[in-house]
Amino acid sequence: MFVYADNAATTSVSEGAVKAMTRGLKEVYGNPSSLHAKGREAEAVLKEARAEVAALVNAEPSEIYFTSGGSESDNWAIKGAAKLGAAKGKRHLITTRFEHHAVLHTMRALEKEGFEVTYLDVHENGIVKPEEVEAAIREDTALVTIMFANNEIGSIQPIREIGKICREKGVLFHTDAVQATGHLPIDVKADNIDMMSASGHKFHGPKGVGFLYVKRGIRLPNLIEGGAQESSRRAGTENLPGILGMAEALKEAVEGMEEHSKKVTAMRDKLIAAIEKIPKVRLNGDREKRLPGNVNFCFDGIEGESLLLSLDLEGICASSGSACTSGSLEPSHVLLAIGVPKEVAHGSLRLSLDYVNSEEEVDYIIEKLPPIVERLRDMSPVWEEIIKEESRLSA
Ligand SMILES: *Cc1c(COP(=O)(O)O)cnc(C)c1O
Repeated sequence: MFVYADNAATTSVSEGAVKAMTRGLKEVYGNPSSLHAKGREAEAVLKEARAEVAALVNAEPSEIYFTSGGSESDNWAIKGAAKLGAAKGKRHLITTRFEHHAVLHTMRALEKEGFEVTYLDVHENGIVKPEEVEAAIREDTALVTIMFANNEIGSIQPIREIGKICREKGVLFHTDAVQATGHLPIDVKADNIDMMSASGHKFHGPKGVGFLYVKRGIRLPNLIEGGAQESSRRAGTENLPGILGMAEALKEAVEGMEEHSKKVTAMRDKLIAAIEKIPKVRLNGDREKRLPGNVNFCFDGIEGESLLLSLDLEGICASSGSACTSGSLEPSHVLLAIGVPKEVAHGSLRLSLDYVNSEEEVDYIIEKLPPIVERLRDMSPVWEEIIKEESRLSA
């Protein structure tokens, strides 16, 4: 059996999205900036897609900027807001310790330019406390950026409350909603969001396309100079096939959300319950305020990487944290942020399920995982120490 359980890293492209993309490649191939019939056709289709994406998050079409994905949207929003702030003498930024690297490394770059960054704690359950956001806001705060849901441990943040606080204090609020878009209900107006990043490939759209929502009235500096595309703020001929694929995927995801969420949550909870039967494991992240498909555990005494390789041999694709860090042997910054000790943070496993997964696949993971953990522990000197220590304590 083959099981793809790494849907937080990326998803397969839906049939509907492939069809929409094919239309953009073969049929609507005009340049939306051209004045002739083929150009006008492309322009009309682009406009439609923008209106569709906007409506699905309750934004206005003019508030949606198509980008190359989540990383670009994050960079643009944060660097842009920092620049807007600096023009008014505001050089303080607020974020959390467990953001995606697209946010954290942008913050690091801004620190080098003289900005001061407050990194909020996310506590043991991986959730930011709105009152701590409020307490961190200063006269010179230019931006608060907090992710909607975490990509490693799945914890969902109190975005609406945080947005309300920022609005009351007159501070810009951006959220990296890459993991949430298409998976959780989002209403940029009701959720008090000023800017929001999303990425097509996390909800069954294509890779290399995403969007940034920017509330009307925010004069975000241009990202790319050139033509008049994206209201002249991000120049370059539009990736129409990608945009059409993403718009279709988002429509499917939002329309099917209730049904998908119910199915995926049930599979997630079954998998969590089964893994909790293995001794000395710990569930990372909040049990309830959690993305429907996220399962993240630490296994005492074993390395996440060896667990991954063994699962891979059984045809199961999982991840030991974020795909961006799993190439390194550094423990996950997300797990360190929620207080997991360094030794244990190495032994984490993320299985991210999705509605395209089946109950049989979950059962297959439940069958294969426990014996792998047992075998790896049998070979682990760290595990031997843990057992020795335990028998010493009970003696
Ligand atoms: C995947 C991801 C990103 C990066 O998106 P890309 O489209 O791959 O650039 C950013 N933030 C979060 C939370 C993500 O999960």
